[in-house]
Order: sequence, then structure tokens, then C-alpha cells
Amino acid sequence: MVFAPAPVVDVDAVAPVRPTAQRQLPTARCAQPVTGETQSRGLATRGRLTHGCLLPRRGRGYVRKNRAGWGTQETVALMQWAAGQVIGLYPESVSVIVGAISSAEGGPLRGHRSHQSGRDVDIGYFATNNQPLTHFRAMSQRNIDIEKTWALLGALLSTSRVQYMFMDYNLQALFYRHLEREGVGIQTLTRLFQFPRGRAARRGIIRHAKGHADHVHVRFRCPIGDRCQ
Ligand SMILES: [Zn+2]
Repeated sequence: MVFAPAPVVDVDAVAPVRPTAQRQLPTARCAQPVTGETQSRGLATRGRLTHGCLLPRRGRGYVRKNRAGWGTQETVALMQWAAGQVIGLYPESVSVIVGAISSAEGGPLRGHRSHQSGRDVDIGYFATNNQPLTHFRAMSQRNIDIEKTWALLGALLSTSRVQYMFMDYNLQALFYRHLEREGVGIQTLTRLFQFPRGRAARRGIIRHAKGHADHVHVRFRCPIGDRCQ
């Protein structure tokens, strides 16, 4: 493991503004050898991916359910690392479902507006009682495992490489209140969540987007040195 082993629930250590230097990142384990330098180019909504890394169908703590599984090495590395962190905390846990990342060379991906440059990943939520899921499932207070899902999302946020997470506003409220009960300070909560400022507020890393009650969409920052934004 390359990141400092900070407890993933310690969100006060989450997301300093300065990006982590690339050399501190874990190594991606790609399904196929990467034959050149991975580059994310352009915008997530109008971009490309060169020499992408294909996330293997299965790995420690995750299973990928979408054919569009190419990302930057950073995207794949962070996804694999965070899924592994959950297993570290919950050794018996079912795997989290990973959906679309990008197609092999990026560009437009059917059914998505973004996912064009290898920096977007759709990730399922964990259900209560360690219930295995085969597809993304719509979540609410009744069926979401807030604590375990936060172990994953908090791990991703702790790397300071997350630009946005798109999540249904009602689910944001559940995470927000959970962290508040855990004693997380208002400054951290304000930096992380759009909630409670309304679903249209352009504040916070975690923001509402329609259609994100069954998965969270994670957008990573442009890797240092790449020509993207
Ligand atoms: Zn998405």
C-alpha cells in the first residue's frame, strides 16, 4: 500500500486541496499490458483516453459489470486500492459493483454524457446485511449500508484525487447525518457535501445529479501532467 494508512472513516483528513504527487499513487493492475504512457485528454464530457488501463473484471473487493472498463492508470489504481480498503475493514464483505468507466480510446459512450476521458467511474452502493447485488440497485434509508459505503467513498476522498462525486441528494443527507453523528466537523462536511444547501447548489465535492440513487459517479481530477481539465 502506498497511501498513508489513515483510517478511512477519518474524514477530517479528507481531501486537502493540493493534489497528491503522482509518485505516491499505488500501481494499477491492468487486465492487459499498457503499451504507452496513459493520457487523459480534454474534458470528461468531450475527451479522449490514450493507452488506457483496463480494470480487470474482478479484483479484491470489486466486480466490474460494464464492458467500458478503461481508465487512466490513476483511476484504476485508486479504484482497486479503495475496494481493497473496504475488504481490510470488512473482510467478509461482498464485492462492490463497478459500472462504466470509459471505452478503450475514450470519446462518447452510449448512455452517458461524460465518461469520455478515463476519469469517471460508476460505483454501486453497498446494501445492508451484506446482501450481494448483481446490478446497481436504487437505495434509500431502508436498504443502504451507509457505514460500509462510506468506507469506500471516504477512502477515495482521502486521496485528494476526487474532483466530484455525483449522488442523489436524499442519499447525501444520510451520509451527512451519519458523519455528523460520528463527530465530523461542520467545515469538513461543508467542503464535502452539497447538502443541505439544496440540490442545485454548486458547492461541495458530492453533488446531486439525476439518476444517482442506484450508483455514485466518481470523477477523478486530471492526472498531473495530462492535457485534460
Ligand atoms: Zn457515470
